[in-house]
Amino acid sequence: MSQFSQDRLESLTNSLLQPTSANGVHARTGLFEQVIDGLSAAITARRESGTEILRFPPVMSRALVEKSGYLKTFPHLLGCVSCLHGEEAAIRALVEGQAKGPDWLNGLAATDLVLTPAACYPLYPLIAARGAVPAQGLTFDVASYCFRREASHEPGRLQSFRMREYVCVGTPEEALAFRKRWIARAEELAQQLAVPYKLAAASDPFFGRVGKMMAMSQVEQELKFELLIPVNSEEQPTACMSFNYHQDHFGTIWGLRRNAREVAHTACVAFGLDRLGLALFATHGLDLKQWPASARETLSV
Ligand code: 5GP
Ligand code: ZN
Repeated sequence: MSQFSQDRLESLTNSLLQPTSANGVHARTGLFEQVIDGLSAAITARRESGTEILRFPPVMSRALVEKSGYLKTFPHLLGCVSCLHGEEAAIRALVEGQAKGPDWLNGLAATDLVLTPAACYPLYPLIAARGAVPAQGLTFDVASYCFRREASHEPGRLQSFRMREYVCVGTPEEALAFRKRWIARAEELAQQLAVPYKLAAASDPFFGRVGKMMAMSQVEQELKFELLIPVNSEEQPTACMSFNYHQDHFGTIWGLRRNAREVAHTACVAFGLDRLGLALFATHGLDLKQWPASARETLSV
C-alpha cells in the first residue's frame, strides 16, 4: 500500500479521529492526544523568555471580529453563535414544532458571540485595552480551539481544530526578526520530528474576486510563509504551520501604538496542532514504538 493511498489514510484517520455525524468534526483518540500533548510540550520548550501566556475559549465577541475586518476578508469561513431568544411561550412553540420539521431554526437570532477563527484574533483588542505598547515590545503565547466553515473535508481539513500561536507586537524590524527566528525554529522542529517538509510563500483564502488580488499581493510581499508536510499526497502537502507578518494591519485597527507617532507592527507564528499530529502519523504510521528516535525523544512518546 503506498504511503498516500486512500485506504491507508482512511485507516490512519479512523484510528486517530472518530467521526461524528458532522463533516470535519471529530473526536480525538488517546493515541492521537498523546502525540498532541507531546507537540504542545515541544512548542512550549521553544518559547522565548518574557513571553506572556494566554488561553482563549472557542468563542469570542462578535463586535471584535467585526472590527478586526474579518467580515471583509473571510466572511465565508466565519461561524456565528445563534440562540433562541424571547418569551418562554414563543421558545416552547418553536422547539415543540421540531417533530414536524426544523421550524425552530426560524426562531434563531445571532448573539454577541462568534466562533474564534484564529488564536491571535482575541489578543489584539486585549492588548489595546492595556494602553501603549512598551518600548521593548511584547510577545505572547496563545491558544484556542478555532472554527472555520471549510467547504471541503479531506483529512486534515477540520471545521474545528486547535491552534497554538506565538505573537510579536513591536517595530517592523522586531516583527520580521521574530518571524525569521520562528521559521528557523520550526524547521529545526520538523527535522527533529523526522517529517519531510517544505517552506513556501503562501496566501490566506481571502473571499471573492478582490480577495484573489489580496492573495497575490500577500505572496508578492512575502507576508505569509507556510511549512507544508505531506498528509494526503506528496504533490499537495498540507499547511501545518504558518508564519505571518501583518505589517500595521492590526496595529492600526486596534490603535496599538508605541508612542504618538508609531503604530505597532505585528507578526504571528501558528501551529496547527491537529494537522501536525496527522502529518506525524501519516509519515511514521500508527505504532509509536516504530517512530524515529529523534521524533520520540522530541515528543516524549
Ligand atoms: P492560518 O491562520 O495560517 O490559516 O492557519 C494556521 C494554521 O492552522 C495552519 O497552518 C494549519 O496548520 C491550521 N489550520 C488552518 N485551517 C485548518 C483546517 O481547516 N483544519 C485544520 N485541522 N487545521 C487548520
Ligand atoms: Zn495569528
